[in-house]
Amino acid sequence: MTLLVRPFFIWAGRGATITAEKRRVTVSNPLSYLTEQLESWRQAGTFQRLRELQSPCEPVSTFDGREVINLASNNYLGLANHPKLVEAAVAAAKKYGAGSGAVRTISGTMSLHMELERRIAAFKSVEACVVFQSGFAANAGTVSAILGADDHIISDELNHASIIDGCRLSKAKIHVFPHRDTARAGAILADLESQPGRKLLITDGVFSMDGDIGPLPALVEAAERHGAIMMIDDAHSSGVLGRNGRGTVDHYDLHGRVDIQVGTLSKAVGVLGGYVCGSRDLIDFLYHRARPFLFSTSHPPAVAAACMAAFDILEQEPERIATLWDNTRYFKSTLANAGFNTGASETPITPIMVGEASAAHRFSRELFEEGLYATGIGFPTVAKDKARIRTIVTATHTREMLDRAVEILSRVGKRIGLLG
Ligand SMILES: *Cc1c(COP(=O)(O)O)cnc(C)c1O
Repeated sequence: MTLLVRPFFIWAGRGATITAEKRRVTVSNPLSYLTEQLESWRQAGTFQRLRELQSPCEPVSTFDGREVINLASNNYLGLANHPKLVEAAVAAAKKYGAGSGAVRTISGTMSLHMELERRIAAFKSVEACVVFQSGFAANAGTVSAILGADDHIISDELNHASIIDGCRLSKAKIHVFPHRDTARAGAILADLESQPGRKLLITDGVFSMDGDIGPLPALVEAAERHGAIMMIDDAHSSGVLGRNGRGTVDHYDLHGRVDIQVGTLSKAVGVLGGYVCGSRDLIDFLYHRARPFLFSTSHPPAVAAACMAAFDILEQEPERIATLWDNTRYFKSTLANAGFNTGASETPITPIMVGEASAAHRFSRELFEEGLYATGIGFPTVAKDKARIRTIVTATHTREMLDRAVEILSRVGKRIGLLG
């Protein structure tokens, strides 16, 4: 007994100290290249510390101990902290628990999930809908599920990262067309006419960094002419464009002509999730093959219930969306009068073009010190020379807040040499 126990004891004790000692002394850190990369970002002024939100997401919020006008959220309609959504979430958690317990395809499909899907399908006037954990999962999961290596994807160069990842995961051949260049998209489709494989034409409904609207009518026509599948990512249009926020298909009156509509529940809807709308067969196929649906747990009941409360508000209080657009027009014209270049934006997403990433980040930091939070955005989110401050007004900002925001932007803009 002693013979057996003692060597084991000695081995364990020595092993532990020697290993720890050795590591400290001789083994180099295999992740040191990350440290070097971080250092170069610090030098370049593009290292970003996460700001901590210490209040609910509101038009004036507290970040890092400072109360600031919040132009950095996607909370377009102020639903993220709306009492009706909060009540619905609390009631659902009390009744059904904190979590769903499984992925949708095993035992994690609750009645609330099915109810939300039916609700969205009816709202969007489509046959069926599937809800994913996020808009990211909806895009990546859908594109990768419906296409394979023999297929072709025709994609706007500014499409969202989740579309790009879905395209890569599908292994299909990717053909990128210049931003909003419908003639080029059509030409690519024409060139591919003789090639085997399915073709998917895909665009953001509203582009998340520029705030311009995708040229859907011409793209839909091109897709129809060449027999391509048409897919739209309405993340920033859900709750913003179209009647009651039904999205870009409704905005352009293209009902029945877009095969796949993706939307998000994380932005204007105020909660979390993504959805895909289309035919019953598309949705049933995704139930069987979309990997985030099959391999990742479904939303907590509170999320589904809060989303449904948000759709009640979209349907019953269209004046919120009207206020969002009033604020958008007001803010854009005030910014233009102050001399800012706001790019090609047509929606509440309003970039203020700066140029260099380090200058955009500095602009953002100085704005924050003066009481305004607007994010600096640089490469790789946007092109290297197109760094910007991105602002998003919401329905809940008052005119006073927007005036004050432009006043701060002008003061800091002059200081950093952006305005004359
Ligand atoms: C935000 C965004 C997504 C992702 O949505 P989440 O629900 O936040 O995952 C997808 N596409 C676009 C265009 C987006 O802006």
